[in-house]
Amino acid sequence: MTQKQKNIAVIGSGFSGLACASFLAREGHTVTVFEKNSQIGGRARVLREKGYVFDMGPSWYWMPEVFERYFGQFNKKPSDYYLLTQLDPAFTMKFSEKEEFLIPASVREIYELFDREEENGAEKLKKFMKEAETKYELSFKNFIYKPSLSILEFSKPKYFQQAIKLDLFNTFHKHIRKFFKSKRLIQLMEFPILFLGGSPKNIPGLYSLMNFSALHQGTWYPNGGFTKIVYGMQSLATELGVEFRVEEPVHKIQVTNRKATAIHTSKGEYSFDVVVCSSDYAHSETLLDEAYRNYSPKYWDKKVFSPSCLIFYLGVNKTINSFQHHNLYFDESLDLHSDEIYKHPKWPGKPLFYVCCPSKTDPGVAPKGHENLFVLMPLAAGLEDTEELRERYFGLLMERLEKLTGEEIRSHIDYKKSYCLNDFKADYNSFKGNAYGLANTLSQTAFLKPSLVNKKVKNLFYTGQLTVPGPGVPPALISGEIVSKQIKKYLNKYESKI
Ligand SMILES: Cc1cc2nc3c(=O)[nH]c(=O)nc-3n(C[C@H](O)[C@H](O)[C@H](O)COP(=O)(O)OP(=O)(O)OC[C@H]3O[C@@H](n4cnc5c(N)ncnc54)[C@H](O)[C@@H]3O)c2cc1C
Repeated sequence: MTQKQKNIAVIGSGFSGLACASFLAREGHTVTVFEKNSQIGGRARVLREKGYVFDMGPSWYWMPEVFERYFGQFNKKPSDYYLLTQLDPAFTMKFSEKEEFLIPASVREIYELFDREEENGAEKLKKFMKEAETKYELSFKNFIYKPSLSILEFSKPKYFQQAIKLDLFNTFHKHIRKFFKSKRLIQLMEFPILFLGGSPKNIPGLYSLMNFSALHQGTWYPNGGFTKIVYGMQSLATELGVEFRVEEPVHKIQVTNRKATAIHTSKGEYSFDVVVCSSDYAHSETLLDEAYRNYSPKYWDKKVFSPSCLIFYLGVNKTINSFQHHNLYFDESLDLHSDEIYKHPKWPGKPLFYVCCPSKTDPGVAPKGHENLFVLMPLAAGLEDTEELRERYFGLLMERLEKLTGEEIRSHIDYKKSYCLNDFKADYNSFKGNAYGLANTLSQTAFLKPSLVNKKVKNLFYTGQLTVPGPGVPPALISGEIVSKQIKKYLNKYESKI
């Protein structure tokens, strides 16, 4: 190993850890990824049972250019590892047994739908999208790839002007109502905000950039499921020399003279020059002695977490015609459900829910003539989770689903597994059982997010959905890239001193 090559540990193998490991290995460092679970991929693991292949976590492939940029930096393309299908319809939104929006892939047809729904709907959407596109471009050009270590990174006068344009100080809830009156169009435009782990009332108008991605860039499916992206990233990392050590949880990060010098795992102790935590931030901090932590338990308690969720992975031994690939059930109030997540956290009275049926696109994920269903209900992080509660909600969701689809489903289920708060905690060391990290509220954006550097231990870094830029697969890729650059900077500085 030359002086410049360092021995680097990455804790956790989610998208952020995988991305970071590859960038570091490309710089010539020796990189080892430690993963507590037997599978790589973090929240994007796969469950294979009775001929069904369930993606356990993410299912919406948005912002395709972030994936292209990621692989492009290694002179690769996503298609070197997986193929994409554009979904058409992109998704369906059900408002009642008879009312639904089938959102077409064609942008022209989306404009037609808006015109049918509201007077001058297409014109209003054009105006909305023009702003959303500007926000998307400005964010990607000037903000999203910043390490956000200090407000000074954002202090150029042009950024202040842009902050106004970006609608940072206005809520999404207000922003959308400036354009549309139709309750159904508002719901359609508000739904992507749920991906940011917040409610339209606490997320800045900036995030209409998500609508731009959802409606203009399209909704895609990686053939074979999200696990194919994980395999692609793992195989790229392996080509670059990254070593993976699975089923090896890290128990302690040892600090000597204010430097992380070693990690202790279930199988041994290893010395490293740099340590990156891509495991849930709050948990990663517990691997350190208290004196070296960035934040106190009080800090974490005050943070607004994205929701957790109750999920059912279901195998159904018949075809259900009324399902599309992505199905959103908005037959109850989004505001009420959001309040039950953020304002008065409790198991929801009238939940909204989502059903993914990838067998509509991909025959490989279910036995012939069967459907693969992933039913998800958002839920506040930190609540009680019992078998009895899960079963009660299974009954409630199935009753609604059978009514809304007009199909008998329960009697055709031949595989069922539930997944909820306790599983997120046990499987990913997730704080309060959160599913997607911190909510992207204004007070938890950019330099106000947990820092990607440890302020007391200079060779210790954090990446992933709890730090910048935020929750979601594309942000996790970006986070891994940002932290690898920060490590490069640190090493250049450190190298020049010895
Ligand atoms: C149900 C669900 C649906 C989602 N849907 C979408 C979607 O459709 N589209 C989208 O873009 N995003 C979606 N997301 C969000 C997205 O999946 C996450 O934001 C992203 O995968 C987070 O990646 P990460 O690298 O930050 O963390 P993680 O994926 O959580 O990876 C962290 C890893 O660290 C490991 N770890 C923890 N502690 C230790 C330890 N002590 N030692 C070793 N390893 C440890 C964990 O096992 C895990 O593998 C969804 C998430 C969930 C849960």
